[in-house]
Amino acid sequence: MNIVPHLINGQHVTSSGRTADVFNPSTGEVTKQLALADRATIDQAIAAAKAAFPTWRNTPPAKRAQIMFRFKQLLEQNEGTIARLISEEHGKTIEDAIGELKRGIENVEFACAAPEILKGEYSRNVGPNIDAWSDLQPLGIVAGITPFNFPAMVPLWMYPLAIVCGNCFILKPSERDPSSTLYIAELLLEAGLPQGVMSVVHGDKEAVDALIEAPEVKALSFVGSTPIAEYIYSEGTKRGKRVQALGGAKNHAVLMPDADLDNAVSALMGAAYGSCGERCMAISVAVCVGYQIADALVEKISPQIKALKIGAGTSCGLDMGPLVTAAARDKVKGYIDAGVAQGAKLVVDGRDLVVAGHENGYFVGGTLFDQVTPEMTIYTDEIFGPVLCIVRVGSLEQAMQLINDHEYGNGTCIFTRDGEAARLFCDEIEVGMVGVNVPLPVPVSYHSFGGWKRSLFGDLHAYGPDGVRFYTRKKAITQRWPQRASHEAAQFAFPSNG
Ligand code: NAD
Repeated sequence: MNIVPHLINGQHVTSSGRTADVFNPSTGEVTKQLALADRATIDQAIAAAKAAFPTWRNTPPAKRAQIMFRFKQLLEQNEGTIARLISEEHGKTIEDAIGELKRGIENVEFACAAPEILKGEYSRNVGPNIDAWSDLQPLGIVAGITPFNFPAMVPLWMYPLAIVCGNCFILKPSERDPSSTLYIAELLLEAGLPQGVMSVVHGDKEAVDALIEAPEVKALSFVGSTPIAEYIYSEGTKRGKRVQALGGAKNHAVLMPDADLDNAVSALMGAAYGSCGERCMAISVAVCVGYQIADALVEKISPQIKALKIGAGTSCGLDMGPLVTAAARDKVKGYIDAGVAQGAKLVVDGRDLVVAGHENGYFVGGTLFDQVTPEMTIYTDEIFGPVLCIVRVGSLEQAMQLINDHEYGNGTCIFTRDGEAARLFCDEIEVGMVGVNVPLPVPVSYHSFGGWKRSLFGDLHAYGPDGVRFYTRKKAITQRWPQRASHEAAQFAFPSNG
């Protein structure tokens, strides 16, 4: 069986003893073995990065950017292979895999602007013959730990920017779907990145703990579930590291009585069931303001949910593939059971779906609950599956209170034709990313991505301008070149222009 190796110093490495199974979620078969890094493997990646850093930090940003230009071209040329690798191990449809890759490529495009984004600020004559400027310097070695649900896009949120900022990067991808992530990193080496600047180490808690504990690793970017985000944030910051840890979500869509219902239904279908609900920005709760819009939503959306085209992710023309693992499937089915037991109305039940020819795949059909109330676990918890819950409220204020009271604050949206309602919602909702008639308000690469509350631990959002701040340290330099060298008396008063 194929072993998925680490990539250290430009070489494939499989030295560690432990391995993990990699599955095809559409068939339930084990397709590969993944090498799991131990501390010695992490030390190898750190040693490679340490050796590469002095030259890389002094490489002109324009040269770093040229590598990113070539990388972008290679990603585009290899789109088909990457999408297939994603789909085979994650289960998402080919079209969806291409979508995530394209959003990832946008982050490479942003990184191509390295000479511009690394320009500091300059002030001439801040005092007599004194000039001042700021410099954005790299941190050194930084590490990224990424989730299964976007094996291409989320790593691309991190390392192109970290690398063009002059850092060396160690990536620890998800152990569920590592092949596309590894393949993409190999393309970056093919684009001309010097060996050691970027390594990929696969692994689990042992590898992550080794990265947290290594004093050479100056910053950690994490994306994944909230309990692990909290753990990494607390353990990393305790050791003086800069940490950015993005966690889980429960994203609400508010439907106002004046919403364009047909378009809102189409938007909800994609946002709730796309990628089988395994997106941190998936809409999992529809909050209907008034009973009429709730009844109309149930009537319009139910047949569309029943008609979802579900099958092996690698086929084309589907709406949804399987969940990522048997454990994920069982967890989602467990939540549906709990919703029924706790009194929600199960309008569409996806539990018994069997896909012909893929009887052992991890499939769950689209599911809809109505009359969900805030104490039910299907409302409180992140299900991360194709389950949409309808909550009925009497006013926009009640809808906003519900959202503001939820522990997560990643994304939300409102469907309305009322500008006043939309403005109030944008102003006062306690959520980091807000859409108005846009169901998945994932910021483009030149803005930054991040939730509020227990969806993000740290001060800065991911990628874009915040990403530049995260991956650099600012240095302020004040320089004086007196026009005529002459003896100057000591000054004991604090220097000022006064
Ligand atoms: P996960 O937390 O299980 O795993 C994420 C990473 O952490 C993986 O690389 C994994 O190997 C590692 N990890 C797992 N257990 C660990 C442990 N005990 N100690 C140290 N490291 C550990 O998350 P997942 O299931 O891969 O991804 C789904 C989750 O990620 C969802 O909660 C989703 O909302 C979240 N997510 C959030 C965002 C965001 O931007 N906020 C984006 C994508 C996914």
